[in-house]
Amino acid sequence: MPKEEIQIVTTLSPCTRRTVESRSSCSSILKNLGLVNIYSGVFDTSLGIEDNSIYRDIGINVEVTSDNYFKYVCKKLMRVFQEKRDLSLLEIKEGFVW
Ligand SMILES: [Zn+2]
Repeated sequence: MPKEEIQIVTTLSPCTRRTVESRSSCSSILKNLGLVNIYSGVFDTSLGIEDNSIYRDIGINVEVTSDNYFKYVCKKLMRVFQEKRDLSLLEIKEGFVW
């Protein structure tokens, strides 16, 4: 399957920058892999992302779901990240109980 036809599904829209210098953002990793079609539950407003214009500038397509239940669940997940912003993603995952 050509990479352009692959659709990546995420809960939150991918980050566009990293605070840790040695790592790339999810958006740049996806772009570098040629995976440019992303379907997300919500725009990650905790990162200041309100629409897909920033992704267009990067060269990837991010479409947000119109499914209200998927959106609801993803917004709840986003709240977890907002509340634990001072922790790394790994620390959040290790400490998160479903
Ligand atoms: Zn990321």
